[in-house]
Amino acid sequence: MKDIARFLSGFKMFQRTYFCEDSQLFSHLNQAQNPKVLVIACSDSRVDPALLLGVEPGDMFVVRNVANLVPPYETSPGRHGVSAAVEYAVKLLEVEHVIVLGHSGCGGIQALMAPDREALGEFIAPWVTIAEPALREVASQLTHKNKDLRQRACEQAAILVSLENLLTFPWLWERVMQQRVYLHGWYFDMKKGELLSYLPETGTFEPLVARCHMGEKKPQP
Ligand SMILES: [Zn+2]
Repeated sequence: MKDIARFLSGFKMFQRTYFCEDSQLFSHLNQAQNPKVLVIACSDSRVDPALLLGVEPGDMFVVRNVANLVPPYETSPGRHGVSAAVEYAVKLLEVEHVIVLGHSGCGGIQALMAPDREALGEFIAPWVTIAEPALREVASQLTHKNKDLRQRACEQAAILVSLENLLTFPWLWERVMQQRVYLHGWYFDMKKGELLSYLPETGTFEPLVARCHMGEKKPQP
């Protein structure tokens, strides 16, 4: 119950900020939302995109799932939750940016790489197979590297798989070609506290916001 009580005091803070002290924002948001960004992030409790990116309500449309995966465009009968969210964000909200936000230490990618993957759960194993192309790539290129490096490479390659899968949605592909929508592959390095972005020019993830150095003195003006 202690945790639940914490949530209630959290909501009271939120209420104070957006409804007691400033009622402007929600008086607009009540009418409609108009986010410019769709973020596809992992369900992991440590990588909440709203906290990481410091946004306000209404700024981002968010999909979260195990390992921040996007399945390819499929019209087979089924409950395509991620595809529905992408469709809503792209076609109805007309977002201008789609960010796939991966992270270090991802349990979903760890499950993908596990030799006994099937034993991990009846839903996790089939879900993470979306990123199998990433696993194959890492297996073919990094067999000699240690486990941590292979996991990191797989986490980053899985972001690229999701970006490629996004382009299989014909209406999204069209908007990307017309430069009405931009795709981004981001990676939150939890060990370093660093945000990296995929650079198509180099084929690598490079710091977008570099790590801070704790204890370092600020330069004197
Ligand atoms: Zn994860």
